[in-house]
Amino acid sequence: MNNQCKNFRKRTKTINKKRTIYLYCTKNKEEIQYSNCKNCPYKEYKEYKKLESKSKIKQKTNTLSKLERNRKSLFTDDLEHCIICGKSPVNLHEIFGGKNRLNSIKYKLVIPLCTCEHHDQVNCRGIHFDKNLREEWHKKGQVKFIETYPDLKFEEIFKKNYL
Ligand SMILES: [Zn+2]
Ligand SMILES: [Zn+2]
Repeated sequence: MNNQCKNFRKRTKTINKKRTIYLYCTKNKEEIQYSNCKNCPYKEYKEYKKLESKSKIKQKTNTLSKLERNRKSLFTDDLEHCIICGKSPVNLHEIFGGKNRLNSIKYKLVIPLCTCEHHDQVNCRGIHFDKNLREEWHKKGQVKFIETYPDLKFEEIFKKNYL
């Protein structure tokens, strides 16, 4: 019974040594007939903690991809050219990756980098290979953040301090 009132109970009692099932309403605290419950205007239903519905997840994904599409940079308005060498096309690189990737997007700590500076797999260079370059931009990113958002605490949001 799916749409059963939450006050509906099936109980048993013993009458003349015989176990009998009866219906009980925990709201009215009385034995009832099934029809009493069925026709009761005061039915209450359990609130199920619904698993996040697919549409909601989709919505979230949409918000995320929208966020990703609208990535902006505190460092440049020109997201078409590499911030280091000026070449196109570019990859939009989140300065703080991993758990802070979304924070990077949120706080516009994103930079355009050509493949060469971003992830040159052939020569193993670019920011994803080059720890020093990454650290350089971590520092720049944190400084920019502090300048741009004086009321926010970088360390509290990013849980790190690069300076
Ligand atoms: Zn470049
Ligand atoms: Zn990247």
